[in-house]
Amino acid sequence: MSDFVEGWTLGHTLGEGAYGEVKLVINRASGEAVAMKMIDLEKHPDARQNVRKETTIHRMLSNPHIIHYFGQRSEPAMEYIFLEYAAGGELFDRIEPDIGMPIWEAQKYFKQLISAVEYLHSRGVAHRDLKPENLLLDDNDNLKVTDFGMATVYRLNGRERCLDKRCGTLPYMAPEVLDRPYHAEPADIWSCGIILVAMLAGELPWDQPLAECPEYIAWKEGKLTLTPWSKLDNTSLSLAKKVLNHLPSTRFTLKQIKEHHWMLAKYHEDGKLVGSDVVDGNVPKRRCSANGNDVSRFCLSQPEMPGIEINKMDCMNFEQRPGFSFSQPTDVEDLLLCTPLQTTQHTQSASQNTFQKLARRMTRFFVKMDGDNFAKKLLSVLENEGYTCRVSEVGVITVATVDRRKMPLVFKANIVDMDGKILVDFRLSKGCGIEFKRRFVKIKTDLGDFVSKSTVSWPIAIANHDIVSQSC
Ligand code: ATP
Ligand code: MG
Repeated sequence: MSDFVEGWTLGHTLGEGAYGEVKLVINRASGEAVAMKMIDLEKHPDARQNVRKETTIHRMLSNPHIIHYFGQRSEPAMEYIFLEYAAGGELFDRIEPDIGMPIWEAQKYFKQLISAVEYLHSRGVAHRDLKPENLLLDDNDNLKVTDFGMATVYRLNGRERCLDKRCGTLPYMAPEVLDRPYHAEPADIWSCGIILVAMLAGELPWDQPLAECPEYIAWKEGKLTLTPWSKLDNTSLSLAKKVLNHLPSTRFTLKQIKEHHWMLAKYHEDGKLVGSDVVDGNVPKRRCSANGNDVSRFCLSQPEMPGIEINKMDCMNFEQRPGFSFSQPTDVEDLLLCTPLQTTQHTQSASQNTFQKLARRMTRFFVKMDGDNFAKKLLSVLENEGYTCRVSEVGVITVATVDRRKMPLVFKANIVDMDGKILVDFRLSKGCGIEFKRRFVKIKTDLGDFVSKSTVSWPIAIANHDIVSQSC
């Protein structure tokens, strides 16, 4: 590992954005972690202006459900934005394709999302790109809105302006955004409605809210027999109808959403209402995986992880270490002011530079073979599925394709040696998160017995990120 500035070590890549990567940086003395969003100005020379807008808005926000902004630094070829690190990853990682997540969990996240959006609107800020990939989770599983790259101020000194820029991500965009001008608040609220459906059904209802899109027209005409609507119970459907009302003037406001009985209901972890066996005369449908198992608690039950007990213990020790915390860093000024070191500079011994973080991703698993042979096996599975693959870096296989909406979809498989165990970590680079998850599930199924059962979506220690040498 290398230092970014004196005392701050560069960790692994947390995600990829439109203009560059987001990396973890860790304070060696305190263990405090910060996410560093890097915007490559050589590749995207016109991005500096966007960064200025993003940071101007983000720095004025402070709310428990908004990622905290620490600061920014500008270098000739790179802009850096320093943000609170969300150790729980992206919300979309908790969404099981075509299934969703348990209703009580969706309710928790949706309430937190609504509270974040309420705060944003109270400050006159519209986010304009709300989607599960921009909703992160902290180590306590609390939702945090991030990515203010498309945000704008729509109300200043009590005066509201209509917006005119067509922006966002098509499946999450409100119909009026395509039809400009539009009011900021209902447009963000619509995106929350699509996120609600994605959480409850594990699929997006349409490609875009346009007349050419038959699924959207069917919804407008009140035809609710098809998925995703057929997967929702009456209460959820009732809320979805009010939020995804195509007329912005009569769409539910945030206040109305908060008062809806879906928001007020207390759901058991089995999906039932507390103190009742039924919900509106309609028990929420149990969520089943392809093999028919009930997966309504898929994300949260504690797995058995034979063989990774050592990592788990290391991880606990690390967490209990005095001074370690995911909380606000104290020395963040160093990141903003000190001279960056060359990224190749090694400053620590192997044992010291083992940083462990809790990470919950459903798109990773351990395998039962060595890294080189697994890479060959994975390439043959990907080729059988008709993917074009590129072995771009050591231990990294990049897949570029288009999704069923004909939108570009790029994802990477990182093959990582974790203290002798081979971990394969799939990560979305570009495109729809849910579509990526769908592909991931198929690839994992195709790999069959090569995938170790001691996987996947639970806290695991990420130690010694040595990329396996790749001979394919
Ligand atoms: P895009 O425009 O493609 O949405 P972007 O360039 O604006 O991307 P972000 O959305 O801010 O970039 O970040 C890209 C990804 O990096 C996120 O989806 C997430 O996976 C990861 N990421 C970003 N910020 C953090 C953070 N604070 N903590 C943990 N992971 C993060
Ligand atoms: Mg983003």
